[in-house]
Amino acid sequence: MASNTRGGGSTPFRSATCHATATVHHVPYTYRCETCAVTAPRRTTAPDAKADRREHRAAAHYGLAPDGDAVLETPGWVSTVLRAAAGGIAEYARKTAQKPRPREAPPEHWRQAVLLLAVGAGAILLLGMLVRAVTGT
Ligand SMILES: [Zn+2]
Repeated sequence: MASNTRGGGSTPFRSATCHATATVHHVPYTYRCETCAVTAPRRTTAPDAKADRREHRAAAHYGLAPDGDAVLETPGWVSTVLRAAAGGIAEYARKTAQKPRPREAPPEHWRQAVLLLAVGAGAILLLGMLVRAVTGT
């Protein structure tokens, strides 16, 4: 514990940077351009992948940002699954947006419920009249 604050031989600044980058090492960063269907080599840090993006945009897109280019922070298969899921959700949203539910005509079961309610109310009224006639009040 005490040796950590003293540095233990190496400079504390260097050990701090090693520790900071060690947590990032597990997640590779790759720059992907869907428009050109190209993927840059994996980078260990996000700034490296963003440098790839900057270079590709400058070289292939005149410095502009193409649609669907991104710095991916996850391994290949995970991002593929996520992209497929996102595509599926987008597809579902588009389908539901294209088919708005008809609201002007009430559905069949709703009409039946109203009919049942009317019949029930009539039966209760009739029963009440009957009871009154029998009891003589
Ligand atoms: Zn491109």
